[in-house]
Amino acid sequence: MKFAQEFKKALQREDFPQRWIDSAIPYGQLKKCLKKVTRELETIGLDRDTLAQLASSQTSAGDLGFHYDLDGEPCNSKHLRPRLTIFVHLKDGVVVDAKLSPATRDFLEKVAIGRAEQQVQLTVTPDVDHESSASDDNDAPVSDADAISATPCPVRQVEIPLVFDGEFFDILQNDVFELDTLQGEEAERLKGEIASLGRTMTRTTRPANGKKAREDLARWREIFELYLDARIFFSTRESDHGARTAAQALKQLQWFQQEVLQRKHVQSLKLSASREAFTIFLNLNAMLLQNLKFQEINQLAVTKILKKFDKRTSLGVAKTFPVAVHSERLLAGSVARDLCAQVSSEVIATVPQLDDYLCPICFAVAYWPIRLQCEHVFCSRCLVKMQRKSERFCPLCRGDVIMRAGLDNFDKARAAFMREYFQRGQGEGESQRARTWERDFRTGLHRRSLLRHVV
Ligand SMILES: [Zn+2]
Ligand SMILES: [Zn+2]
Repeated sequence: MKFAQEFKKALQREDFPQRWIDSAIPYGQLKKCLKKVTRELETIGLDRDTLAQLASSQTSAGDLGFHYDLDGEPCNSKHLRPRLTIFVHLKDGVVVDAKLSPATRDFLEKVAIGRAEQQVQLTVTPDVDHESSASDDNDAPVSDADAISATPCPVRQVEIPLVFDGEFFDILQNDVFELDTLQGEEAERLKGEIASLGRTMTRTTRPANGKKAREDLARWREIFELYLDARIFFSTRESDHGARTAAQALKQLQWFQQEVLQRKHVQSLKLSASREAFTIFLNLNAMLLQNLKFQEINQLAVTKILKKFDKRTSLGVAKTFPVAVHSERLLAGSVARDLCAQVSSEVIATVPQLDDYLCPICFAVAYWPIRLQCEHVFCSRCLVKMQRKSERFCPLCRGDVIMRAGLDNFDKARAAFMREYFQRGQGEGESQRARTWERDFRTGLHRRSLLRHVV
């Protein structure tokens, strides 16, 4: 199936909002416009084969060849101004390059004469390669060149006035802008929904709300653990690191839903607010996926039409257009990935996981968290141990902070948070141990202050 049809079908199949479909890349229109570009180039003797030949003979700056600049006029205009410049060898206003057909040379001469005052002389070098090929040609200008084989032949740049390439890139660029704006609006909308879900979650699962809230909190921990395991939109694993394609994301999302279903996590949520929050959470993910799909399919349309452009003209824009257009969302960014980061900081983080609160040295829960000057947090016991050994440097960042830590470094807010969210397991024994550590800690401090006196 041709891509034009495939694209149209995909837009219909995915159930995108009409407004999205209206803003999609106008692939058919671009294809029609590309025909006009091709015809225009052919009329002046610059068909794709001639341009391809010019490109291949271009070995160094100032040599015969061409340059196609999409952002030709560095002005404040947001629009791309494509500019085609051909480098030719001119001798007394006559193009002497034998690689060009007589018609092309004819056209270039006309343009060159018409724009004589704009011409810039780039280099003046004898072109050995050119002379040898020119001698095989019987055209009058070439005989001329043959006669002057020993004299330098100037390379001139001739700017080719084209109309339809400007039209083509206007259409494409405008649509990319429109899609960028649309994605920006969608992202804003979803951001609002994510933030609101985050607030609901914080409110609903506060352990202080009672037994049901505490049970739901434990359930959410399991749900989110599965969610993180699924790595739906983005993987941090070494084996498949990076953003997911829409197809991969869909597969992962389905896996997550199935696991949640099988383990009866949703049914066992006690509060109706929790169950509602789960539905919103799933819907959010579905919307993220929808956005990713739409972005992907339009990115593909841009890639395809640029490839077609290059195939028909040999002007080489597939690489330069994405750079020149400055599309931060559609071409360069990923709305789904950015929003995913927000989901994890604003929704998933409302349900703290024990793993994130373990002391990085002994892997025990740091109920007595000490926050050092470098912002790293350890349990009080490990800190005391390090101080007894007179270790000065933080094991995580090597900052000279260990011996400077004192009771002021006890992180009260975090300790209160730990007590609220991870109270299970913090039985009598646990708090007894915590008290011992605290005593050790104070003793440690005491010893250190004694040491200070000695020093
Ligand atoms: Zn520790
Ligand atoms: Zn540190």
